[in-house]
Amino acid sequence: MAGLAGGLTGLSASSVDTAVRAAHARYLTLNEGANADYIPALAKVPSKFFGVSLVTGDGKIHEAGDTTEVFSIQSISKVFNAAIVMEQSGKDFFLNNVGVDATGRVFNSIEAIEQYKGKEMNPLVNAGAIATVGNIKGKSAEEVWDTIITFYSAMAGRKLEVNQEVYKSEADTNQRNQAIGKLMSAYGLFPMDPGVATDLYTKACSVNVSSHDLGNMAATLAFGGRNPVTGKQVMSRANVPGLLAIMATAGLYDDSGKWLFNTGLPGKSGVGGGLIAVAPGKFGIGTFSTKLDVAGNSIRGQRAITDINNTLGTNPLAQFG
Ligand code: GLN
Repeated sequence: MAGLAGGLTGLSASSVDTAVRAAHARYLTLNEGANADYIPALAKVPSKFFGVSLVTGDGKIHEAGDTTEVFSIQSISKVFNAAIVMEQSGKDFFLNNVGVDATGRVFNSIEAIEQYKGKEMNPLVNAGAIATVGNIKGKSAEEVWDTIITFYSAMAGRKLEVNQEVYKSEADTNQRNQAIGKLMSAYGLFPMDPGVATDLYTKACSVNVSSHDLGNMAATLAFGGRNPVTGKQVMSRANVPGLLAIMATAGLYDDSGKWLFNTGLPGKSGVGGGLIAVAPGKFGIGTFSTKLDVAGNSIRGQRAITDINNTLGTNPLAQFG
């Protein structure tokens, strides 16, 4: 009867709870890595916070630690901007325009843009991400912003807001992203004004979320675009697999291959310390811990998710029936 007890996920609630609590406890005192500091406001976020939130298909949330502490979503926003463009323009938009292949370069590489003249990127590196935002449809910057924040909020199941301090801090110091936006615009890769596209991208990176919110957002992807807590179909089921594929190949910067090798889970990290991972049909998980490894991924987040995935036997590439 384990299947019944676990609802559609096939996981029993008590085994999930135990796995989440054990992983949180195991890494609570791990103190390796460092906050991102190239965006000044991120350097100040307390590194003691550690939250782990896992959401299953029956809408149950299994969590431990500082799960309501908010922090800026950063690059995890890129997933949801890509989702909006897929919803508006079809998933093949990315095959034909921004690209879906890992660049093999750092996330804010300008050389990669030059090498491919802005094509052959993907929506999870800055060039592709800014082009993605620049392709969101709307009559004005305000209307595009409204589309973005409404979509993120539906994914999270609550109204999300911008962290104004982080937004200002990044807007004052994002000359490199402005250059990337202009270069992508020069290659004709999006119709929006590049200054507006980069600003909206930056604002989207500054949206405050908790691990609880990220768990919901990841779970919405894990269950075909339907938030299992609110029951709302936020995006179409048909667009989710392509999005997960891009996360699988490029979600954790230059360690995306290592992450996939270890977990099999499509994931996405942000330099604010957030990390999401998706076990399709099983769970979505979100974690928060600011200290990053050299690749820019949250150390405690990666460890906790890897442990939970191993304990529950949910690596999607190991489902042999
Ligand atoms: N806003 C950050 C930037 O563009 C996002 C980067 C990240 O989380 N990797 O630099």
